[in-house]
Amino acid sequence: MEKLVQLLIRKVYFYYQDKHYSQLKKQPLFNDELIKILNSTIKDPILFFDGFEISLSNDIYGGKFTREREIWENFFLAEHHIYLNKHFLFNLLGYQNQNPSTKLFDFAKLIETIAHEVAHCLITDLYQTKEEHGETHQKITNELEEYLWSLSLVKEWEIKIYALQK
Ligand SMILES: [Zn+2]
Repeated sequence: MEKLVQLLIRKVYFYYQDKHYSQLKKQPLFNDELIKILNSTIKDPILFFDGFEISLSNDIYGGKFTREREIWENFFLAEHHIYLNKHFLFNLLGYQNQNPSTKLFDFAKLIETIAHEVAHCLITDLYQTKEEHGETHQKITNELEEYLWSLSLVKEWEIKIYALQK
């Protein structure tokens, strides 16, 4: 389960980042030299799924924090850590009827939360100055969610979840 979430986080992050940079590269101020630098430095963000967090309260779906790592002198790289509420795991395992809170943490909410948290990472990396839950964040979240639902991996996973929960 953790591996699948990690995979989706990376997939959806790269989907947006690739699109963002290919649009940037079309702009006239971008020359080949700059593109080379871009391709070699920014391509590999550090993204971690830190697991299903036991300590999160019942009304928080997930969260992320970013750590700045100094890799060379004065050169920092952002390291993003995403974590999700434990109720998602209980729901995925078929315990959604045991606890009224767990019911709310269904598969659709999981996909939405992944999109929401990855959008925070993208805003930190690509837009820096935008406010946390502003219009840009909502726009990116919607786009990522749509992309996630287009993946056959997500569709197949959903079918398996519902089969398990019957
Ligand atoms: Zn948020």
